[in-house]
Amino acid sequence: MEAMEAETRPANPLAGAGPEIAGPSPRHRTAGVQVGQGEGAVTVGGGAPIVVQSMTNTDTADIDATVAQVAQLARAGSELVRITVDRDEAAAAVPKIRERLDRIGVHVPLVGDFHYIGHKLLSDHPACAEALAKYRINPGNVGFKEKKDTQFSTIIEQAIRYGKTVRIGANWGSLDGELLTHLMDENAKSPRPIDARAVMREAMVQSALSSAQRAEDLGLPKDRIILSAKVSAVQDLIAVYREVARRSDYAIHLGLTEAGMGTKGVVAASAAIGVLLQEGIGDTIRYSLTPEPGGDRTVEVKVAQELLQTMGFRTFVPLVAACPGCGRTTSTTFQELARDIQNWIARSMPEWKKTYPGVEGLNVAVMGCIVNGPGESKHADIGISLPGTGESPSAPVFIDGKKATTLRGANLAKDFETLVTDYIERRFGQGARDAAE
Ligand code: SF4
Repeated sequence: MEAMEAETRPANPLAGAGPEIAGPSPRHRTAGVQVGQGEGAVTVGGGAPIVVQSMTNTDTADIDATVAQVAQLARAGSELVRITVDRDEAAAAVPKIRERLDRIGVHVPLVGDFHYIGHKLLSDHPACAEALAKYRINPGNVGFKEKKDTQFSTIIEQAIRYGKTVRIGANWGSLDGELLTHLMDENAKSPRPIDARAVMREAMVQSALSSAQRAEDLGLPKDRIILSAKVSAVQDLIAVYREVARRSDYAIHLGLTEAGMGTKGVVAASAAIGVLLQEGIGDTIRYSLTPEPGGDRTVEVKVAQELLQTMGFRTFVPLVAACPGCGRTTSTTFQELARDIQNWIARSMPEWKKTYPGVEGLNVAVMGCIVNGPGESKHADIGISLPGTGESPSAPVFIDGKKATTLRGANLAKDFETLVTDYIERRFGQGARDAAE
């Protein structure tokens, strides 16, 4: 009977359309690493949501400035914040910074960034070693020649003693010179030598993986190790991380080092991180953007969140889809409305988050004319299609895919905000929650 039904059923025109049009690859399986304790603790890897992190650019010894910037980054959504620990004054400031942050209700885990003398600072400042949730070390500058092993092991022993996580962060700019020289020599002797750049990539991968293995040999469990291998060129970065993921299951921190300023930095880092995330690689991300002098450091957090949200991995704030505008939108009405709605949502979010759980998944569309306006607005939860040049001065509003009303007149923005507010209240408010129970 089943066979007969199968024969008489028309052929499915979508048959075979599965994997070819599938979404992102399944996440690469990694060990889950807990960073921090209690309130604010986060899990990196092990299938947990991809974590957003950032780094301060204040002098850590300046406690006021560092507390203020960590709080700013955390409030913008950074789930881990890294601070430089480069000298005794900075190490001595760390426990005070932790204490002050806790007092103002900012429990974000702090990561200490150590170079050259991390072993000494952690040994000389036990309160710093205790206050940090994670130590970031660079195998390329943890020590040199015979001192390298002892200095590396001292840091790992501190992490074991205090129950902390370690990020082993290899970096193209400070690649382990001894390892690179060794690999270059081996390559030169080989009957089929590979390109020098490929040797450098291999050195990055080996530097990260062999250091992680050594940390494990010293007694630090895999679920307390996070790996990164940052490079400043997009293709190199993708190649190196693919290889790290292929050869290991350590939790992975993604980032393009020295991404740069402005749009260049955002585009380069997004291209690299986006490709890897799509392939299922990466458990935590950081955008290493150079801010304008006196610029807003939280931009790196917002960009990281936007990447994760636009790729469909996490939701942080309601998305506003807006068309770019063209010759059909000769007035600025639609740019102004898109901007006003976006700003209004950003301003309202802190309050909405408390009152309307789930509101961050809202999709709003603000479109410029009849060509794509109604169609795109129907795909959003709530969307408005503004009149283009020469169209009648009315703006249909679509709610949950159906035309709900048409707005006219000078108060379009305010009227649309009222409709969005009503929609949020209906969908995410107490009434909706009571009905769902
Ligand atoms: S929706 Fe209309 S205004 Fe917007 S880009 Fe398309 S054609 Fe231009």
